[in-house]
Amino acid sequence: MASKKVRVRFAPSPTGYLHVGGARTALYNYLFAKHHKGDFILRVEDTDLERSTEESMRMQIQDLKWLDIRWDEGPNPETLQDMGPHGPYRQSQRKHIYMEHAERLVQAGKAYYDFRTDEELEKIKEAHIAAGRSPQVGPPDVMVSADEAKKRIAGGEKAAIRFRVAEVRDYTFVDLVRGEVTFPSDMVGDFVCIRSNGMPVYNFCCTIDDALMEITHVFRAEEHLSNTLRQMMLYQAFGYELPKFGHLSFILGPDRQKLSKRHGATSVHDYEEKGYLPEALNNFVLLSGWSAPSGDEVLSREEQIRQFTHERFNTAAAVFDNTKLEWMNSVYLRALPHDELWRRVEPFLKRAGLEIPMAEDPAWRDQALTTFKSYMTTLADAPKLFLPLADSKFAFTEDSKEVFAWPESKKVWEAWKEQLEKHPSDRITEAEFNALQDTVKNAAGAKGKTLFQPIRVAVIGQPHGAELKILVPLLPKSSLLKRVEQCLKNA
Ligand code: GLU
Repeated sequence: MASKKVRVRFAPSPTGYLHVGGARTALYNYLFAKHHKGDFILRVEDTDLERSTEESMRMQIQDLKWLDIRWDEGPNPETLQDMGPHGPYRQSQRKHIYMEHAERLVQAGKAYYDFRTDEELEKIKEAHIAAGRSPQVGPPDVMVSADEAKKRIAGGEKAAIRFRVAEVRDYTFVDLVRGEVTFPSDMVGDFVCIRSNGMPVYNFCCTIDDALMEITHVFRAEEHLSNTLRQMMLYQAFGYELPKFGHLSFILGPDRQKLSKRHGATSVHDYEEKGYLPEALNNFVLLSGWSAPSGDEVLSREEQIRQFTHERFNTAAAVFDNTKLEWMNSVYLRALPHDELWRRVEPFLKRAGLEIPMAEDPAWRDQALTTFKSYMTTLADAPKLFLPLADSKFAFTEDSKEVFAWPESKKVWEAWKEQLEKHPSDRITEAEFNALQDTVKNAAGAKGKTLFQPIRVAVIGQPHGAELKILVPLLPKSSLLKRVEQCLKNA
């Protein structure tokens, strides 16, 4: 018999930007699907209408797009309309399906309407605790029939629908990450499927959706491990086939506490803002809980897909290693073709208000990026590197005042200006610059700091800082002339 097509899903409950942990779950599911030539589904678990807003869903979709994690079924990334035969893909639009399933369980005697109030349930739990038992809720003393329940609800009463944990036994499954896991059924009491306000609960929706969407493998965060017990009970009650589960180990902060806002940037959006490349972030999260059979650390998407199997998941928690992420980013950044790198750098320069006219010239861009990229860890490093090249930002720093007071400075600037004017082309190479400096030295009779610092002030407005032999070749003669003229005006 042909084996079933692999179908996996990422099922976020969107509340704000996508967290790196969520990005990892999404990536692993995506890679697993692609490795097995299967389908990857995005399902939005937005039944908590107060917390899961439409806006959050858009933000998460945006983050997934940025990471280039694409789904075969789910909300269309552009229009948000359902895409695929198993929709709707937003749980808030599937309530009728959950109600119909809940009814089915009630009819089969596997679930019941529960009219007990929160206070009554609280008292039951307290009594259990006082008697030294676990505070789990069992069925009420008097069961209300489905027909009777519906009448009472129509009359304005409220009732939850509760699953009946009738069997006392162990539930065992083989977790694809952790191996065999066993839960005794009495870990849970009769649990709510539909709340008295009509809202279905996570375990209930998730089971039904995974079954109806024909999900074959569920890779999700470790915190959902214990939910698997309730879900297994539900699969059994409906007679649905159990998918394979794999619970991914936590990602911890450097202090080995669960990664959270306290550790600084934790959302994909934060990393985008900080100038990380999606390729690097993907590759980094890939290795936070999985390792390649080849031992490679930097893997193209193609290689990731080729090598991704569940056998390589780590059972131990991953520790978020910022230094490694920085290293990964600089590797990807340096490998980008310059046209592409410029496309990514440009928004950072714009945001910093840097207008660089020479950047229109592809040869100039190539030269500038060749020079600067080795100094860049993230795209956010670009503005300070490019700043000296923006004419509009040229200004004299406080410590250049001293240089203005030196008697040699004016002579240096006059000679520098003259040499620039004589220079036959609009651009100056590093070798030409060295030769020019020698000529200025002789013409002005200045040497050492009384030579170099005035030239520096005439190029970057300050006596210290970035290396001129790097910057001068990137500045057109017209800019250099304008700058030295400003020195002479102030001399
Ligand atoms: N909506 C759940 C979450 O965001 C998904 C859990 C699951 O994958 O089953 O954590």
